[in-house]
Amino acid sequence: MSPTSSSGGGQTELPASSDLWTETRPGTYGCGGCNLHVYSSEWRVPLDKGWVFFAHSEPNTVLTGIDSPQEAYGMDPNAPGNMIEVHCRRCGSHLGHILLVEGEPLHCINGRSLTFEPRDT
Ligand SMILES: [Zn+2]
Repeated sequence: MSPTSSSGGGQTELPASSDLWTETRPGTYGCGGCNLHVYSSEWRVPLDKGWVFFAHSEPNTVLTGIDSPQEAYGMDPNAPGNMIEVHCRRCGSHLGHILLVEGEPLHCINGRSLTFEPRDT
């Protein structure tokens, strides 16, 4: 694990650059900057794209901002509007983006922006 940058800045990591994208155990996902509990495994969406996808964040844990046009990320250039950036409410760390994936708005999160705490079952 490399140290997590908490400076924000909106960079997107390369696909599959964190092991978390294949994490399937139940547990909680924390902000890499301040460890605020931002996502839970219940909301994971299993997509084979190299990032960590969630249908929802934990309530009131992330804020959104307007990022570059979707085309800049190699997304569908006909998609309406700009990318929506997601960052931690508490420390402001950039976490990822909200994307339309097959018609569903999903949180597409950089694995290296998260910590994972497996839950004891
Ligand atoms: Zn944070």
